[in-house]
Amino acid sequence: MRDMSHLQNRQTKLIIGIISTFAIGFGALSLWSTYTLHATRAERDQLTLQNDSSAANLDLASSSIAELTDQISMLTIDLEDMTADYEREKQKNDDFEAEYRDIINTVYDLDKLSKTDKELLQKYSKVYFLNENYIPSKLSDIPEEYILAGHAPQEFHSSALSFLEDMLDAAAEDGVDLKVVSAYRSFDTQAQLKGTYLQTYGTGANTFSADQGYSEHQLGTAIDLSDPATGGPYDAFGDTEAYQWLLRHAYRYGFVLSYPEDNEYYVYEPWHWRFVGRDLSRALHRADANFYDWDQRQIDDYLLSIFD
Ligand SMILES: [Zn+2]
Repeated sequence: MRDMSHLQNRQTKLIIGIISTFAIGFGALSLWSTYTLHATRAERDQLTLQNDSSAANLDLASSSIAELTDQISMLTIDLEDMTADYEREKQKNDDFEAEYRDIINTVYDLDKLSKTDKELLQKYSKVYFLNENYIPSKLSDIPEEYILAGHAPQEFHSSALSFLEDMLDAAAEDGVDLKVVSAYRSFDTQAQLKGTYLQTYGTGANTFSADQGYSEHQLGTAIDLSDPATGGPYDAFGDTEAYQWLLRHAYRYGFVLSYPEDNEYYVYEPWHWRFVGRDLSRALHRADANFYDWDQRQIDDYLLSIFD
């Protein structure tokens, strides 16, 4: 019996031990799970809180961006307005500047025109003469190399001299030997010359030294040209290559033939050329017209650019 009770006692102890173990295990598990659950919830709450906060921040950022976008739009509009204002002002300034420039140009042109000798493009006729006291504003010596051998030194209008030199140089480059026989002649020189002619040729002198031609020489812009073969201002010059060269090229240098063959104004003078400026000589060339064909008012439009 003692052994039995001893055995029962051991069984009881074992059961109690097992139950205790289970109880402790369950308690621990319960405790752990409670803790874990609690911890997870806290974390979740924390996360929720964080999410809420992030969402709020996002809302804030969104509204800030919207505000900034609005501000940028407004600034853009302001900038566009300012740009438009600036463009308008700039246009006004440009217009003003253009107007100002026009006025300056007009003043400059008027000043230039007032200083340009109107006689230089005057048509002379049996009723319109150059005053006997007329003297060109400035004369220069024509370099000796351009003067026909055996002829006296000559003067030409200072502002037209470079055009004459360029023309004679161009002729030389083309193998054409063009030389100056006579250029500026004062009223007195012309009167003496005419006196000599009259003594030599009688009234026949009027056919080659009448008032028109002599007026042009008194301007300082008319020139008698020839070549060594012809030797002087003679009709024979009209049959030379040099004359043909002048007919083709002289207008490019501002020179025109004053009295062409069969003209109605004066005797034919193939040697006598007048500087009228390149604008006018080109216009006449294009129109296939002679200087004396055009109306004086039409010619006067070219006075401003005579030395350009
Ligand atoms: Zn002449």
